Amino acid sequence: MPAGKPKYRRVVLKISGEGFCPSGQSGIDQQQLQSIARQIADVVNLGVQTAVVVGGGNFIRGATIAQQAQLQPATAHYMGMLATVLNGLALQDTLEAMDIATRLQSAINISAVCEPFIRRRCIRHLEKERTVILSAGTGNPFVTTDTCAALRATEIGADALLKATKVDGVFDKDPVAHPDAKRFDRLSYDDVIDRRLKVMDVSAIDLCQQHGVPIVVFNLAEPGNMKRVVMGEQVGTLVND
Ligand code: UDP
Repeated sequence: MPAGKPKYRRVVLKISGEGFCPSGQSGIDQQQLQSIARQIADVVNLGVQTAVVVGGGNFIRGATIAQQAQLQPATAHYMGMLATVLNGLALQDTLEAMDIATRLQSAINISAVCEPFIRRRCIRHLEKERTVILSAGTGNPFVTTDTCAALRATEIGADALLKATKVDGVFDKDPVAHPDAKRFDRLSYDDVIDRRLKVMDVSAIDLCQQHGVPIVVFNLAEPGNMKRVVMGEQVGTLVND
């Protein structure tokens, strides 16, 4: 681990719901939760202002549940957003047990357990070294928490969007199915969009491109990786320019 100052002063970390449970399962797994929280705590203790956008796919994905239960798509997407709040609550509790001060904000008002998402308030918490967990996505149906992460990173002036995955970055093909898949160290936003690489939704990439927010795609399942990323080590894939 290099000595010195972190490369990024303020980051948005996007954790998909699948990060909260073992592969192929659903719900929340205590070990995964602890390991996520430990990585966040390490970075926060370096003084990096950290906002975390949580997904909800370990409980519900709007498009899937709409089909399965024959619900109106908008209703199903709202269910998906509420699912992210469950992950947010679990992460908040786990971080606080590690002495990390947190605030849980939600884009849908759930006043008994979360603050509303208010941009300036979120920034103020970060300045006061509180980790802000952002739940309920954008509060609007038909988009994903990836788009939410790009939006929040842009509006709170984050230096980078850290997209956590279960593989080591962006590959030319699925590395799980193809052992010969090649990992990219660096890509441009246009590369990602033109080659249809599975990084984040096109709308998320587009927003980051428009506002010059670099994206680092990295494996959060590897202990110490988030700290390596914020210290500027070559980890995963950097998408910029
Ligand atoms: N969702 C939404 N609006 C948002 C964010 C999320 O409607 O701004 C819904 C959408 O149905 C999505 C679900 O919430 O499928 C869970 O979020 P997501 O799929 O992004 O979670 P992840 O894949 O990151 O676990």
